[in-house]
Amino acid sequence: MPRSRKINLGKVRASLNAQCPKCGHLIPPAEVKRVDLERAQCPKCGEKFQPGGFRQDGVNQVGNA
Ligand SMILES: [Zn+2]
Repeated sequence: MPRSRKINLGKVRASLNAQCPKCGHLIPPAEVKRVDLERAQCPKCGEKFQPGGFRQDGVNQVGNA
């Protein structure tokens, strides 16, 4: 029996909304303002941060076999 683990769906879903580390505002994907490839800006307080849903080194990546 192969013991390959597929992508954790719950984890993926949880990462859809980005949360501002400064004011705690939950930002749905439609409202996320990206400043560059890896950072988003909170529409509420203007804080720039790296959302957890974006790519992180070593962590499972969608489409990465
Ligand atoms: Zn904020």
